[in-house]
Amino acid sequence: MAYDSTNIFARILRGEIPCKKAFEDDHVLAFHDIHPQAPTHILVIPKGAYVSAADFGATASDAEIAAFTRAVARIAAEAGVEGSGYRLISNHGPDSHQEVPHYHVHILGGRPLGRLVT
Ligand code: 5GP
Repeated sequence: MAYDSTNIFARILRGEIPCKKAFEDDHVLAFHDIHPQAPTHILVIPKGAYVSAADFGATASDAEIAAFTRAVARIAAEAGVEGSGYRLISNHGPDSHQEVPHYHVHILGGRPLGRLVT
């Protein structure tokens, strides 16, 4: 699937749409989900143009992948959910209901999340 540069997260990255920023470095932006599903619900996105986890894993540089992985853990810790626990979710494609076609990881926490059944 080709990257669509008009998607909402691309527009957030370009500063065309505001976001409540949680973290930013050279490779990564993180911001609070507009419709939070838990007390902590942060979206972590690479600054590069990747459609989903498969695209990111296959084509991002080692530096981007390392920066992203480290950022996720750091953002969760800074959000205060490292001790209580959190869940990472990344939707890929239609069956997962991926809504925004720019790779992102959801960090969910701040309450008991229940078992992951689907
Ligand atoms: P997906 O279903 O693609 O994994 O999740 C996309 C997420 O992006 C959803 O949880 C949705 O609430 C969030 N979202 C969609 N549009 C916006 C927006 O304009 N700003 C923010 N902060 N989150 C958004």
